[in-house]
Amino acid sequence: MSNVYEQKVNDFMAKVIAKNPSETEFHQAVHEVVESIIPYVEENPQYKDAKILERVVEPERVLLFRVPWLDDKGEVQVNRGFRIEMNSAIGPYKGGLRFHPTVNLGILKFLAFEQVFKNSLTTLPMGGGKGGSDFDPKGKSDNEVMRFTQSFMSELFRHIGPNTDVPAGDIGVGGREIGFLFGQYKKLRNEFTGVLTGKGIEWGGSLIRPEATGYGTVYFAEEMLKTRGDSMKGKVCTISGSGNVAQYATEKATEFGAKVVTLSDSGGYIYDPEGIDAEKLAYVMELKNVKRGRISEYAEKYGCEYHPGKRPWEVKCDVAMPCATQNEVNEEEAKMLMANGCFVVSEGANMPSYPEAIAVYMEHKILYGLGKAANAGGVAVSGLEMSQNSLRYGWTREEVDAKLHQIMKDIHSTCVKYGKDGDYIDYVKGANIGGFVKVADAMIAQGVV
Ligand code: NDP
Repeated sequence: MSNVYEQKVNDFMAKVIAKNPSETEFHQAVHEVVESIIPYVEENPQYKDAKILERVVEPERVLLFRVPWLDDKGEVQVNRGFRIEMNSAIGPYKGGLRFHPTVNLGILKFLAFEQVFKNSLTTLPMGGGKGGSDFDPKGKSDNEVMRFTQSFMSELFRHIGPNTDVPAGDIGVGGREIGFLFGQYKKLRNEFTGVLTGKGIEWGGSLIRPEATGYGTVYFAEEMLKTRGDSMKGKVCTISGSGNVAQYATEKATEFGAKVVTLSDSGGYIYDPEGIDAEKLAYVMELKNVKRGRISEYAEKYGCEYHPGKRPWEVKCDVAMPCATQNEVNEEEAKMLMANGCFVVSEGANMPSYPEAIAVYMEHKILYGLGKAANAGGVAVSGLEMSQNSLRYGWTREEVDAKLHQIMKDIHSTCVKYGKDGDYIDYVKGANIGGFVKVADAMIAQGVV
């Protein structure tokens, strides 16, 4: 990047940081986008004149609310609820809810910001949003989770709707939580409508929605590999996390003939050199989704290694898929991956790599699929769930999977279109510019609002 552009990025970031102090993850997400976009905006002055960059970093609306609830002992607990309605230029706000003790305004703003570009990349008409709470579902009874989610929805219902804002799941919000949220919305509004995605299949959900993010991350990796005449077949994969995204990334990678050798949770990682096959994955799903246990139990059951307090990036692999959380691969770990021969990183999680780690991937010219492109399959199928709800019709598993696969291929093509630099494909630049253009053009068409 030339010095002139670098100076413009720094000036822009200085203003963002001054306006949003201590929101470090938000600064990080904006910096990554602005670095790609500023040269493009300079070459296309209509975006500069309309101050699109200055506008996209300001949420259209931020909601912050009290969530009081009674625990099983009858004691009052108080959490904080949020919804960031970031950008509605190309459709209703769309993005997940996260329930995790680390949730704060800066984290949700980073996620909402990423969501705007990701949703645009899917080609579906969805704006960007994100929300959640600092509530920790871990260790809570089903009744406590229900009372909390009902209280959360008792405020949120005023601000959302199938044509306004359509939340979904994220960390700590799976089928159970979406069910409780939907039930409370329906009661308060007296209407059965597609206001949330990730619903159960019997009550308006879409087939393949649970699988979509993980499958999509693998489809994206496969597309990247194809550009080098290669495929997932025979590749050794390391995956972090053991939740929704990690589970289905494991399933699809295995189906494609790869061998997944690690999974993790916040306690540590397991290393199974034999590979996590279908039977072992069924055990992980039961352990995590039903028993809500720890991944260390896998190591006890199958007699493999468990590394407490560590992340799986020290294990030799061809393909790494971070599928747990933000900032889970640092510079040193990225270097370790490269030294061990890893040449594909496909991100199931949002912003899992620190900027220094991304610099290492770029320096080694590996196939690096950043989250907003590689994990867009989840929200894409959420968009398809919205379409099915509007149609009052359900597509088959094969139909949804085929549409998901095509969308991931299209996202890949967009990244190539905007990111190709000689022989090398800069997926960061490609995804950021590709996602930006549609939103920016819609904002210009809609005037200064
Ligand atoms: P889940 O809650 O199902 O699983 C999260 C997994 O990550 C768990 O194994 C959890 O371990 C681990 N984890 C969470 N926080 C941390 C942390 N701070 N340190 C270490 N491990 C952690 O969430 P999802 O699988 O849905 O989401 C995973 C990632 O994918 C997130 O970044 C999310 O934003 C992203 N994503 C999800 C989509 C979806 O459709 N669900 C769509 C697009 C992106 P533990 O149980 O110990 O907390």
